[in-house]
Amino acid sequence: MKQSRNTVLKGGSIIDGTGLPAIHGDVVIQNGWIVAAGESAATAFAGSDYNVIDCSGYAVAPGFIDVHSHSDLKVLENHTEKLLQGVTSEVVGNCGFSPYPLPENPGVLREFANGILCGNDTWGWNSAADYLASASSSHVANVASLVGHGSLRIKVAGNTSSELTRRELDTMAGLLDDALEEGAAGFSSGLMYAPGSGASAEELTVLGRVAARRNKVYATHMRSYSAGLVEAVEEQIAVAEHSGCRLQISHLQAAGEDYWPLQRHAIDAIENAERRGVDVTFDVYPWLAGSTVLTQVLPQDALDGGIPQLMARLRDPEQRQLIRPRIKPEARWSGVIMTSAATNEEALVGRSVQDIANERGTDPETTVMDILLEQECNVNIVEHCQSIDNLHALLTHPLSIVITDGVYTRGRSHPRLYATFPLLLSDIVRERKWLGLEDAVHKVTAKPASRFHLNDRGRIAKGYVADVTVFDPARIHTNATYEKPDVAPTGIKLVLRSGQILVDSGVAV
Ligand SMILES: [Zn+2]
Repeated sequence: MKQSRNTVLKGGSIIDGTGLPAIHGDVVIQNGWIVAAGESAATAFAGSDYNVIDCSGYAVAPGFIDVHSHSDLKVLENHTEKLLQGVTSEVVGNCGFSPYPLPENPGVLREFANGILCGNDTWGWNSAADYLASASSSHVANVASLVGHGSLRIKVAGNTSSELTRRELDTMAGLLDDALEEGAAGFSSGLMYAPGSGASAEELTVLGRVAARRNKVYATHMRSYSAGLVEAVEEQIAVAEHSGCRLQISHLQAAGEDYWPLQRHAIDAIENAERRGVDVTFDVYPWLAGSTVLTQVLPQDALDGGIPQLMARLRDPEQRQLIRPRIKPEARWSGVIMTSAATNEEALVGRSVQDIANERGTDPETTVMDILLEQECNVNIVEHCQSIDNLHALLTHPLSIVITDGVYTRGRSHPRLYATFPLLLSDIVRERKWLGLEDAVHKVTAKPASRFHLNDRGRIAKGYVADVTVFDPARIHTNATYEKPDVAPTGIKLVLRSGQILVDSGVAV
């Protein structure tokens, strides 16, 4: 049966996404667009052919927008983890990783990105236009994409962290300009991941100018979120200031207890820049643990040349001695938990590096190098390293947007992939009362839409695309945990994208 595209969501509490107080009323949807919203809005459409859905007792909000997604490949496979959270739009291509432009040897890009994109040996697109064309057929999400600086760098210079020549830099700027012209939403950097970590501020400023000319955003996974946090923020602000681009600081946090006090200084630097007229905002996920690949604890120059070179270094006793003192987790070793392993999963997944080191009768650094060798560097981790007071400061800050930063992994993914927005609306809004409901919805709808220029989305108002999430503010809930993350949330009645019902009573249809 073909689903009616004309729907009335009747008698709900409309949270329009702007942050204004909710109003009681109806939302009328025709051919995928909102044609009326507000008190008694349905009256004018009485008698027409509408599917009328009673929403009394529910909040009717814009579909949530996740501007820090790593679902580049998963949206094409129609995975529903985000959709079930109420997400209808995703901005992918974050932290320097995008599945395009393919280099001459596509394996180099796949090896670089597979730990974050959870990919195989076959993906890849030559251009933003090709990727966006594929993504436009996603059933689960409206997809916008940032070009990854790491991917661009691999395209022009291979997997090397060394300084680019003038000519390579010009080529990279040209490729970025092409991608932005073809519809990419901006570009992203991953300055803690080789080879992006090899970029100077000058290199990023050249690219920032390209983004500025096209009025697109630059999102950055900065060089440090721990000891070097404040300098990292200042560096990225300088890039924005010198290039004139719009800056989005990705997943802001201070990682590691020793560095928690630095977050206040980082926020001060951002507020000062904003007062000077720099166009800067930041995003945050409402969790106290991060999620990444195990190679992230290594000095990134150890990855120069790619995984085979890293493996060779880890096998060489002299190289190991050089690498060892520079291995630095953001959490204590007891808080660095294995979440996926290519082999021997039962013995590793769910356990900390410290725990495994104790069992093996060795130190954590040796354990990390050994595990990377055993697993051919294919390991994901969760790091418990953040402070609840800092999280409060970030979530309640007027410049923050809330994101999932969800990462698919083979073993046990971080629960943020399954539960971020339900957690925001239950734990943060309802239980802790850190944010009002309308404020929280604003941070995941109209605010990210305007930041990433997702026009026509993120609001419940006439003339907007009918992306809508209907949930019960008193009952929305998640049982997802770090130990058992893959649990669907409850309390979400409906999710519509372009007027089409994709989730009904919490189940994808
Ligand atoms: Zn990142």
